[in-house]
Amino acid sequence: MPNPYMVPATVRCAAPGCKNVRGENNHWFVLLPETDQKLFEMFRYAESLVRNFPRAMPLCGEACALKVMSEQLQKPWPSETVAVIPHKGARALEDES
Ligand SMILES: [Zn+2]
Repeated sequence: MPNPYMVPATVRCAAPGCKNVRGENNHWFVLLPETDQKLFEMFRYAESLVRNFPRAMPLCGEACALKVMSEQLQKPWPSETVAVIPHKGARALEDES
C-alpha cells in the first residue's frame, strides 16, 4: 500500500494548448526529441523517462502525440543532411538483391 502522505508529482501534457493532467490509469506517451540520428523517439508512458530526461514530453493521447510529432517533422532541416542507413536496414537491402 502506498504511503498516504506521499503526493505524486503532477504531470501535464506537453502538447501546445492542452491542459490535461495525468491520472493513474491514463494511457499516455512520452516523446524524446532528437535522439542520435532520429528526429524523435516515442515511448509508452514511463515516469522514469519524464523524471530522467528534461526534454521528454509527456503526451496525453494519440491526438496530442500526433500534434507534437507533426511539429517535430516540420522543424527546419540542417544545411548538411547526412543520410544514415541503419545497419540492419542496409543488410536487409543486400539480402533482397
Ligand atoms: Zn494533451
